[in-house]
Amino acid sequence: MKEKILVVDDEEGIRLLYKEELEDEGLNVQLAASGEEALAKLEQDKFDLIVLDIKMPGMDGIEVLRRVKERWKNLPVILSTAYHHYKQEFGTWASDAYVVKSSDLKELKTTIKDILNTGRK
Ligand SMILES: [Mg+2]
Repeated sequence: MKEKILVVDDEEGIRLLYKEELEDEGLNVQLAASGEEALAKLEQDKFDLIVLDIKMPGMDGIEVLRRVKERWKNLPVILSTAYHHYKQEFGTWASDAYVVKSSDLKELKTTIKDILNTGRK
């Protein structure tokens, strides 16, 4: 069965790019445009991993991360942002990985595979 991942990003272009590229990697990719939508989807469905944007209107990714780890402690979260400086912020320590956004998704793909493979062992 395909591993199911949830991509959370307020930018439609990013969501569609990630969906296309990650589906090419053989993943089942679901999308959420906001933190609120992501939490609603997590209530309804089981996911193997989340790729989470930090900067979003409404609930930001740090708050989503906090709530996810409270509720689904073992669900891996990759924070994805255009900004390097978040790496130093306290809230991001709880994430399993941190990937700086780029048009080249190689690092993101490698990180996803590493986490999914580790989980299977
Ligand atoms: Mg954003």
